[in-house]
Amino acid sequence: MQLRILQVGDPRLRQKSVPIAATPALQELACDMVQTMRAHDGVGLAAPQVGVNQRIVVIEVPEHMGAEDLDWTKTQLLILLNPEVVELADFEEMREGCLSLPGYITYIERARNITAHADTLDGHSITIEAGGLLAQAIQHEVEHLDGVLIQDHVGGIRNLTRIPPPWVALPDDPEPSPRRSDSEDDDAKESAKD
Ligand SMILES: [Zn+2]
Repeated sequence: MQLRILQVGDPRLRQKSVPIAATPALQELACDMVQTMRAHDGVGLAAPQVGVNQRIVVIEVPEHMGAEDLDWTKTQLLILLNPEVVELADFEEMREGCLSLPGYITYIERARNITAHADTLDGHSITIEAGGLLAQAIQHEVEHLDGVLIQDHVGGIRNLTRIPPPWVALPDDPEPSPRRSDSEDDDAKESAKD
């Protein structure tokens, strides 16, 4: 079942999500999240984006990373419970967007290489050595679990860059407002229009 992705302004995106244990019931949520992520051409989706404040994320990136050409016909799907980034290295600015804020991108300083710990749906603890887009996606999704969004890195939505479709615009297509002084205000403005 495809789920509705919450848009910036929904307070559930700002809540800190709680740790979870692997249970059979989580399988359905995970499947729905994967289906929703794929339907929106995303490379990752965190549970708070579908209104569930629990620490589970799904990520799907091309198998061949690090090169200029990414092979989208071969992807690697990860379903991670309680993911935690424990080491970060080789910082650089990376282009980034978010399914909860379609139509905007920005550049964020991310670690190009990371080590992360997580649990799997079948109850195992794993360690992930990730680079490139996968490392970026893990950092982005873990931030969602702590209520952090991309505009927090650049001082608010007004400092993000508008991009044309294929991103789907919000219904009222809000313009960033120079009158607002912090990201929470921006959030409230978006909420009123959603
Ligand atoms: Zn996001």
